[in-house]
Amino acid sequence: MKLYLVIPCYNEEAVLPETSKRLREKYDALMGAGKIGADSKIVFVNDGSKDRTWEMICELHRANPVFRGICLSRNKGHQNALMAGLMTVKDECDAAISLDADLQDDINAIDAMVDKYTEGYEVVYGVRSSRKKDTFFKRTTAQGFYKLMKGMGVETVYNHADYRLMSRRALEALSEFDEVNLFLRGIVPLVGFKSTEVTYERGERFAGESKYPLKKMIAFAMEGITSMSIKPIRMIATLGMLVFLASIGVLIYSIVRKIMGDTVEGWAFLAVSIWALGGVQLLAIGVIGEYIGKIYMETKHRPKYIVSEYLTDD
Ligand code: UDP
Ligand code: MG
Repeated sequence: MKLYLVIPCYNEEAVLPETSKRLREKYDALMGAGKIGADSKIVFVNDGSKDRTWEMICELHRANPVFRGICLSRNKGHQNALMAGLMTVKDECDAAISLDADLQDDINAIDAMVDKYTEGYEVVYGVRSSRKKDTFFKRTTAQGFYKLMKGMGVETVYNHADYRLMSRRALEALSEFDEVNLFLRGIVPLVGFKSTEVTYERGERFAGESKYPLKKMIAFAMEGITSMSIKPIRMIATLGMLVFLASIGVLIYSIVRKIMGDTVEGWAFLAVSIWALGGVQLLAIGVIGEYIGKIYMETKHRPKYIVSEYLTDD
């Protein structure tokens, strides 16, 4: 089996020497055990780094052909770098595993992923069993992120980031998703095929700094919701409905006050108008939004279906 590792790198000169050493050892062990073919590769994707990352990748490649490098013309972000790597290797490998350059995701899970692939699974999600080693801040924000995704109607695998194995067939299917607003952990479940999970413990970043500061994390969460779900638009329509219903309550209340005779002339009319109009307007925006949501989803040109098996006579 020809296994490719795809590793996006953005300003990762601090971790590359150690990362490449550990990965090479892992590969030697896997090849020695006959689990993966000798023609398997480790592919680094340089995402427009401003430090020596690319020079280091070139050196690694020169010293050992197991290492390969892909250089993007500029920084395009983690998701795009990952996609670039996967799409570049998809026709060469039997399966590809994506992982981060800092090796926070335990590389010993690769063995289990390969086993699952051999058993016939096409997508193997790496799932974090615990986040003990993450900082309190990272842990809470990340968990909040997964909950928010679920609440907003985005189907994701809980505690799974971008550490996963995909078979060539799954990669082929992934390539049919044309969208520019990439949120891979939302798209991969849409790809389907037989999938399973492998759990591991998430470690610390051993060198360098996180390339995902809070600002980028929030942007990423927004991207996830707005690129995968039109639920926020629906919420406007629901809000409109609620405000309109509330206006009926205001109407009854105004009439009661009027009968009791303690109101100013014209007050009831104004109060009810404000609520009723507000509700109708929100509802109307929600209806328009529903159509915009449809247009948005259409423009993504996602595949309507992906055939996984076709039984024929020959
Ligand atoms: N990364 C990238 N482009 C970017 C930002 C990050 O390719 O614009 C890569 C980075 O080099 C790393 C991975 O994405 O391999 C995950 O980043 P990081 O480990 O900093 O994120 P965290 O683990 O803190 O969420
Ligand atoms: Mg990391």
